[in-house]
Amino acid sequence: MKKYLILLLILSMCGGTAESDLDPFAEEMLVAKDVMTEKQNETQEEFKKSQENNTQSAPPPPSVNFDIIEIYNTKLISELCEDATQIETTSQECLLKYRDNLEIVFSYAEELKKYTDSLNQYFSEYPSAFTEEYADFFEFLNSKYFEVPKTYGEVADMYSERFGGNQYSQTTDSPFIDEEVLTVFATEDLTQKTVDSTIQYTNEAYSLWMGKDYYGKSQAKAIYLMITGADLEAGKKTNSEYCKHLEQKKYPSAEWCNLDTYENYVLNGGAGINSSGPVEGYYFMVMAPRGNNLDQGYKTMAYHEVFHIYQMSNIFSRDYEEVDRKFGRRTGDDPNSDVAWWGEGNADFFAALYTKDLNEFKQEMKWALEGNGPFSMARKTQFFENGQKLYNISWSQGETVDLAYRIGSWFTAYLVHQNGEQSVYDFWETVDKGNFSNTFINIFGKDYKNYIDEFEKWLQLPNAELYKILEPIYKSKIK
Ligand SMILES: [Zn+2]
Repeated sequence: MKKYLILLLILSMCGGTAESDLDPFAEEMLVAKDVMTEKQNETQEEFKKSQENNTQSAPPPPSVNFDIIEIYNTKLISELCEDATQIETTSQECLLKYRDNLEIVFSYAEELKKYTDSLNQYFSEYPSAFTEEYADFFEFLNSKYFEVPKTYGEVADMYSERFGGNQYSQTTDSPFIDEEVLTVFATEDLTQKTVDSTIQYTNEAYSLWMGKDYYGKSQAKAIYLMITGADLEAGKKTNSEYCKHLEQKKYPSAEWCNLDTYENYVLNGGAGINSSGPVEGYYFMVMAPRGNNLDQGYKTMAYHEVFHIYQMSNIFSRDYEEVDRKFGRRTGDDPNSDVAWWGEGNADFFAALYTKDLNEFKQEMKWALEGNGPFSMARKTQFFENGQKLYNISWSQGETVDLAYRIGSWFTAYLVHQNGEQSVYDFWETVDKGNFSNTFINIFGKDYKNYIDEFEKWLQLPNAELYKILEPIYKSKIK
């Protein structure tokens, strides 16, 4: 029974729903193989000749931004313990790494499927462009890569057989060694009122999303809250106390604790979560009221950050990359880019929903569309002028990322309007068992890219139409 369950999990890792998912991929690989055999049958002479004739007219072949062979070699050869494939005898740590890396390698399946689709299409039009390099590539997919899900099943099975369970949340393996939910590091220049309010907002948001039992509850702790003021010296001192705390607790990441995190916050304000909770075993949350400036937005900002903790707490992985993938930060067309729409859109939307009254909530959502933010025109106009898909807007684009937050917040509103608020929590509380795309399909019924296409069409309606969904959403709040 255990094995069967794991197998289903693997099959559903492939994008789409449940059992049949591996099939299209398998089929695709076979098609690819046919192309290869056909090509190999061609004589060298003819092949060369046709290649010469066609090189000028053929457009460049489709490409992807990652090298799966290199990823495979890194994750499944160089990064692993020497005896990792001796799955019956290797150490727990080595076996876990093997299992997690297999999952990472397999997470590219969906992108690869799209890529091989487009390659097949391309080679049927320009058969002479089929070089030995592509033959090797397909050979790799059909042999080595094709084995990955099967091996994953075996390794995951062996792991649970030998070490029990498939989570390390409740085992000694968890990096969450601190049972304290909230530890505060506040600078000396802040008033007691500022410190108290910040703690109060953090606690309120915590009870809202993490108070009751839920999937990630065992990781809903060790929140290290640093509150900075307007004084650089005071910030420096508190930052170093925080780093000392990490050292005392013996976190491996204490070694590279940044003593200068405070600087940017003291000078520019803002807030953030500066650690990967599931990997490091704590959440480093910073709140920066710049002096004692507790305006309306400050409470919303605290809720926004705590929502990030809720999101992250549901991911049980010791791999930075894997956490980012499940978090939705690798959902752009370029899998190396760090995109913001999902994590930030959720946090912005829920923070507004739970810190505002109905009127203020409407105002906030209106501001997200009609306000200029860092641009010279309303965000909605800017978004369509920019022309990029919502899921491709990344942090590397400077202030453009503002659109991913605010339009992302509208996307979350649209989802909540159609699927209910609980659906978003269901997403977060199940994503750990699958991958981002699959979980999205399971919960919201379609692929996130299609959903965003649909949303972007809807967003073109007059704003007055869009605003109609806000009141029903607000009135059906569930927390
Ligand atoms: Zn955020």
